[in-house]
Amino acid sequence: MSGKIKIKEEYCKGCGFCVEICPKSVLKQNSKSNAKGFILPEVINREECIFCKKCELICPEMAISIINEEENNE
Ligand code: SF4
Ligand code: SF4
Repeated sequence: MSGKIKIKEEYCKGCGFCVEICPKSVLKQNSKSNAKGFILPEVINREECIFCKKCELICPEMAISIINEEENNE
């Protein structure tokens, strides 16, 4: 499967919901924070992503977008 995980860092509030809901442990909150001081999710296992969009759907700030390139090509 191919696609993209886009994180708009300036929108993130550091809640960690995306990290918790991901069934494949693709995301992790590391030490990186945005300009407001919120800890950002980082993509640590991109190759494991199944593009289920759970992270996109749960994010209250709409900071994550999942683009499934195979779906878009249909
Ligand atoms: S789309 Fe699904 S598998 Fe990929 S990072 Fe989001 S929750 Fe995890
Ligand atoms: S769910 Fe959204 S706001 Fe919360 S940590 Fe993830 S990207 Fe940031």
